Amino acid sequence: MSFRIGQGIDFHRLEEGREFWLGGILIPHHKGAVGHSDADVLLHAICDALLGALGLGDIGVHFPDTDPQYKGADSKELLKHCYQLIRERGYTIVNVDSTLLLETPKIKPHVPKMQETIAAILELTVNDVSIKATTTETMSFVGREEGVVATANALLQKAK
Ligand code: MG
Repeated sequence: MSFRIGQGIDFHRLEEGREFWLGGILIPHHKGAVGHSDADVLLHAICDALLGALGLGDIGVHFPDTDPQYKGADSKELLKHCYQLIRERGYTIVNVDSTLLLETPKIKPHVPKMQETIAAILELTVNDVSIKATTTETMSFVGREEGVVATANALLQKAK
């Protein structure tokens, strides 16, 4: 049995009046993340975990933020592409574990829908997609609600 592990981390600034895409869904909030794509920090961290597990570089290599075709891109499409890359190499995902760092809003009510959305793309059950969240106790740019961070780990298994 061949296993590979990967990790990813991503950061985005938060600004008033932006749509807040997180974990593939739109979160009602007065601020949203800023980026070239839809700035979905959680999906970007998961993309990097998948790419990292197979040494395929990072999200910036595959989807350059200088490329106009990714302007406003739906990060679910980026995640689908990363998943396709690992499938092409004969791997499936065992599980994904992630953590969001943000001060507000409370994420817990949104977690089931995020899990469903991500699990559907990655052909996993919701139990295989863990999404945790923490504040930074008002410290740092996260605590000041200037930005949001996500980390993710993914375990891949070579399909039989
Ligand atoms: Mg990003």
